[in-house]
Amino acid sequence: MESGIHLVNRPDSQERFSTANPATGEPLSDYSVASAADVFAAVAQVRQAQLWWSRLPQIRRSAVLRRVAQLLNDRKDSLARVITSESGKPLQEALLSDVMVAADAAVFCADNAAVVMRSERIPHDNPALRFKRGRLSWEPLGVIGVIAPWNYPLSIPAADVFAALATGNAVVLKPSELTPETALELERVVSAALDAEGLGALPRPFQVVTGLGPTGQALIASDIDKLVFTGSVPTGRRVAVACAERLLPVILELGGKDAMIVLRDADLDTASSAAVWGSMMNAGQTCISVERCYVHRSVYSTFLARCLDKISKLKVGDGATPDTDVGPLISFKQLQIVDHQVEEARALGAIVHTGGTPMPQLGSNFYSPTLITDVESSMSLMTEETFGPVLPVVPFSTDEEAIALANASEFGLAASVWGRTAHATAVARQIAAGTVLVNDLISGFAVSAAPHGGLKQSGIGRTHGLLGLQEMIRPRYLDVDLLPRMKKLWWYPYSGLFAPMAAFMDFVHAPGLGRRLAALLRTIPMLLIRRR
Ligand code: NAD
Repeated sequence: MESGIHLVNRPDSQERFSTANPATGEPLSDYSVASAADVFAAVAQVRQAQLWWSRLPQIRRSAVLRRVAQLLNDRKDSLARVITSESGKPLQEALLSDVMVAADAAVFCADNAAVVMRSERIPHDNPALRFKRGRLSWEPLGVIGVIAPWNYPLSIPAADVFAALATGNAVVLKPSELTPETALELERVVSAALDAEGLGALPRPFQVVTGLGPTGQALIASDIDKLVFTGSVPTGRRVAVACAERLLPVILELGGKDAMIVLRDADLDTASSAAVWGSMMNAGQTCISVERCYVHRSVYSTFLARCLDKISKLKVGDGATPDTDVGPLISFKQLQIVDHQVEEARALGAIVHTGGTPMPQLGSNFYSPTLITDVESSMSLMTEETFGPVLPVVPFSTDEEAIALANASEFGLAASVWGRTAHATAVARQIAAGTVLVNDLISGFAVSAAPHGGLKQSGIGRTHGLLGLQEMIRPRYLDVDLLPRMKKLWWYPYSGLFAPMAAFMDFVHAPGLGRRLAALLRTIPMLLIRRR
């Protein structure tokens, strides 16, 4: 059993919440709810730690992150088990899409923080400003707040935490109330890495605060310098308003309704396997999962038959069982959302080819992998995020129609296009989404160097990659005058200034060398008179 704030252990935190295994319903642990005072204290503590952490040479911060990657690898089995017990996903997914992605992110941040923080000389173009030297340098923002969801309880917060730490920031993470233990494991890994690098005696620059929505609200109200929020659109909107109230910069990584387009020249065996995996992995609870599948009419029935065959072979069960392909949904509430969308579609004429029902015989959160057609674009199944193991397939006749269908969404997180490379790439360029994959899906999230983020309602800003690191730093422009004893000609008094300055402007911008030289000749005596 863990305290709500791992390092800021407040005995006065009375309120508690508990977690349960979504597959078995078995209670897991209980945690204290971090109060606003707890959150403020955690932020104050890491702000103190940020002083030494930001002054540490980059090479040593990177060494800590490389150590983190090593520890994630050492602890991969136990971490995968914790993730599966809290989120329900199969162990294989916990390993690949959480632990490995997190380890990759740690190494990427270690390798690239120095790249984004490299300072550069800023040239002065205007001749009047030439006697100065300018330099653009980058510094950490200070304290980054991270609010995370439950569906990738390690890889999502870890990528943000590592980007923040690598660039010299301190971090306070508020994980989902459904997956706090995974976040506490992450905190333990970072602490162990600091210990191993001989920095364990110093205040920790990373803390986890556990709790529900109000704990997240307290983090937004606290003395943080930026927030990275990943979660649903409705919560994201509330978060954006709260951040706007205090002009707090925020990255919003929100929901998606990702389209998959299967062109007439796609390899149908590969594309159908992709559609099934892309819609069912993590029981469909992936922000970049296949939520809508558009298939060229000429290959529609073959594609459908292959999907049906592959879905029928999926094993649904506890993610901790080695041969499970599809685990439970995170909660009964999530199951009700999925079931409602499917039932509404069915009532309006959609055809369910397989699945379409809860599986109470396995547990209260299991839903059968579902293939559904004859859906209308107005149905909630096609407009709202489903976040369940449901594959809706719709035929199209032309590329233009497929592009229009894919883009007719208020979301724009990711998409995939399947077909001959040149053809599919040309279509991919016309899709309005933050990430578009050709002949692959979802894996863009696992590419540490690739930026992740969405358009439209799917969010603001980017995480991952160099862009994700850049979100954690701010520019400082330092300008040094090389003639410190010279008063500037454009200072007071203004009397007599306009004519020489107009001539000077001609010297800089007038067309033709002759006119510019003539302007210079006029400028010099006028300025000399003014200097007296
Ligand atoms: P959620 O919005 O319910 O909760 C996200 C986090 O916000 C949780 O930690 C929660 O406790 C906290 N929270 C709740 N109310 C808050 C408030 N008023 N102020 C501050 N924090 C608050 O989302 P969820 O159910 O945990 O996650 C699923 C959603 O996340 C889906 O919509 C999914 O698409 C989205 N998601 C997006 C990405 C992405 O990268 N774009 C990645 C994963 C998940």
